Amino acid sequence: MRQILTIGKYFKDKFGEKVYKIPISISGFTCPNIDGTVAKGGCTFCENESFSPNLTDKSKFKLNLHSTENKYLEKQLLQLEYQFNLTKQRLENKFKAKKFIVYFQSFTNTYAPLDTLKALYEKALSFENVIGLSIGTRTDCITDETLDYLESLSKRQLPPYLQNLKMKTNTYEIWIEYGIQSVYDVTLEKINRGHDFKNIQEWITKTKMKNLLVCGHVIFGLPDETEDMMLQTVIESLNLNIDSIKFHPLYVTKNTLLAIDYLKEKFKPIDEKSYIDILVKSIKILPHNISISRITAGIDNNSLLDPEWCKNKHQQMKNIKLALLKEGLFY
Ligand code: SF4
Repeated sequence: MRQILTIGKYFKDKFGEKVYKIPISISGFTCPNIDGTVAKGGCTFCENESFSPNLTDKSKFKLNLHSTENKYLEKQLLQLEYQFNLTKQRLENKFKAKKFIVYFQSFTNTYAPLDTLKALYEKALSFENVIGLSIGTRTDCITDETLDYLESLSKRQLPPYLQNLKMKTNTYEIWIEYGIQSVYDVTLEKINRGHDFKNIQEWITKTKMKNLLVCGHVIFGLPDETEDMMLQTVIESLNLNIDSIKFHPLYVTKNTLLAIDYLKEKFKPIDEKSYIDILVKSIKILPHNISISRITAGIDNNSLLDPEWCKNKHQQMKNIKLALLKEGLFY
């Protein structure tokens, strides 16, 4: 029986105790795929303000890589502190949590001028018991200057009160989470991704050359993809030397471009058995030092149109674990 390396286990091995990720959503951030820079409407599966104006903050203010000023920075820093403290307190009370990673999760978190990014990241690292950052972004929204800066953060020493003998590192943990989704340009075009696989290869390679940690997100069940294509996406993502991977089934939610195709019967979501089959095959080829940051995803609210099996995360996990056990893999 082989124990799969989860991201939780990776952190426990490296830091001697459980590390908790605190998700943050900063208003004013958007995505070049939504603001019209590379595309409009966003990825076809993305529920964003193009469809649901009430989803995000109503301010017209949106950052991009070339914004010359950010008069909302003070507000954004307060928002960061508020969200962090709220979740930190809950995790401390419930789990006696002692170490945290600040996870910039919503939208494209490097799609802003470097001064803004620096202010937010420095603030996040200044919070008590924070040992690093995880930054969700797109490969077409990162610059050499941002990578240089993040590399410098990854070499920065943790404050002495955060170091102990059980830890295998004494520097900050800096992760970048890139959406890969598929290695096929034809698919990336179908989902209105706004960049091609060459761009993904170029910027993940550059990120790894800076010794930063990379988590790649892949989606199974994208329009017209076969099982071989999904597996090839995993293989080629691993070839990019990523450190961790997130697996995600494609489900349809209301207020998305995908929902329109789904309702016209132009798109059929992946069934649970196929998802689990391809997932197990992917995990079997994962090198033992690559961690899994997510094995599936679900959404238990009224916005889900299909497939129904994505509603019950608990049942999904049960079925996945069972399928893995049959292959001698323990999750
Ligand atoms: S890159 Fe992310 S935020 Fe941007 S449109 Fe796609 S899913 Fe939405």
